[in-house]
Amino acid sequence: MNESAQVICPPALDVGKIRADFPILQRTVHGKPLVYFDTGASAQRPRQVIETIDDFYRNHNANIHRGVHTLSQEATDLYEQARLKTAGFINAPSAEEIVFTRGTTESINLVAHSFVRPRLQPGDEILISWMEHHSNIVPWQMLCEETGAVLKVVPMNQRGELEMGALVDMLSARVKLLGVVHVSNALGTINPIADICTLAKQHGIPVLVDGAQAMPHQRVDVQALGCDFYCFSGHKMYGPTGIGALWGKAEHLQAMTPYQGGGEMIRHVTFEKSTFNEAPGKFEAGTPNIAGAIGMGAAVDYLQKLGMENVAAWEAQLLAYGTEKLSQIEGFRMIGTAAQKAGVMSFVLGDIHANDVGTIIDLHGVAIRTGHHCAMPVVQFFGLPATARASLGIYNTFEEIDILAEALEKTVGMFD
Ligand code: PLP
Repeated sequence: MNESAQVICPPALDVGKIRADFPILQRTVHGKPLVYFDTGASAQRPRQVIETIDDFYRNHNANIHRGVHTLSQEATDLYEQARLKTAGFINAPSAEEIVFTRGTTESINLVAHSFVRPRLQPGDEILISWMEHHSNIVPWQMLCEETGAVLKVVPMNQRGELEMGALVDMLSARVKLLGVVHVSNALGTINPIADICTLAKQHGIPVLVDGAQAMPHQRVDVQALGCDFYCFSGHKMYGPTGIGALWGKAEHLQAMTPYQGGGEMIRHVTFEKSTFNEAPGKFEAGTPNIAGAIGMGAAVDYLQKLGMENVAAWEAQLLAYGTEKLSQIEGFRMIGTAAQKAGVMSFVLGDIHANDVGTIIDLHGVAIRTGHHCAMPVVQFFGLPATARASLGIYNTFEEIDILAEALEKTVGMFD
């Protein structure tokens, strides 16, 4: 760590201890210690999550809800405990408001089909923001094409902040849903969700929040935010892939019709008619990702133990240090300089293509993401083909930022 790093407050987390929990951080890449700055795409998993999944398969594995035997009851208990933990983590009023899904994408699609589609008339509007991930753009486009509704986009400024004045002007009775990202994966912007919800409520507009990038980095309280739906993915928050959740207000979930039919989600079936379970069961058709949900519960436990305020504070220090350090590199330009920002450093390095940057620094053991980050309108907005993105996690250190900076400097040197 250099001198400027030492004036930053000591961390509230024992990062050495955290790192020891992540077995993958022991490995090398191209003969160099792995430096992982791609947590935004998928976080690494601590041994507590890995061991929980291992224990489930070794000792408790069975299908849930329908078995009377011991293993099935144990598996059901573990699965439902994970729902309870997930609800507690986001301060949901009830575990019944947590629907397990495959992740953020499926959660958004569920709301699109089960909540929004039945309410849409031609000429109605769906409002999203310019900085959405494709998963909060494409489902709405598909729905608009099908129904004759119109997709409207709230603009952002050059710092990558939402134009709140424009948002206010775009709210009207025609808007049937406002979908907005909590933390932008491409820019790091933290959007003022509570304010947005207050404004939307004045027009009776339900708000869906894409929380994929907020969950691992800050405390999320769905009641304080005042939203109607909150979507997230296990793999972004140190849990397994293939699992995530939709939180929805009970009144909405109760009124919604399931969009997938099958086993588990029914109460009674005849050839003439089927009746459905209550929420959340009616949205979890078929055998769910049982081990995944239990693993996500372990990830929740892990983050709860660290304390999300501590996580946010540590990552804010890393972001401040990284922003200053990388800015000293010739040709470095940060893309996304919002006043409220989470641990994402999206950047360009002179004329060097982002993919070249990513490939070269991989040789130094440094993993970053390059491309459009599934947010093509964002890179188009800045007139770029791609950016390089270093995204931060709980296990990153100042020393790793120094390694990143050094690798980027060497990259620049190769193109001089
Ligand atoms: N929203 C944001 C902001 C994301 O960063 C991502 C993933 O990168 C998603 C949604 C989609 O998440 P998933 O692929 O886990 O469904």
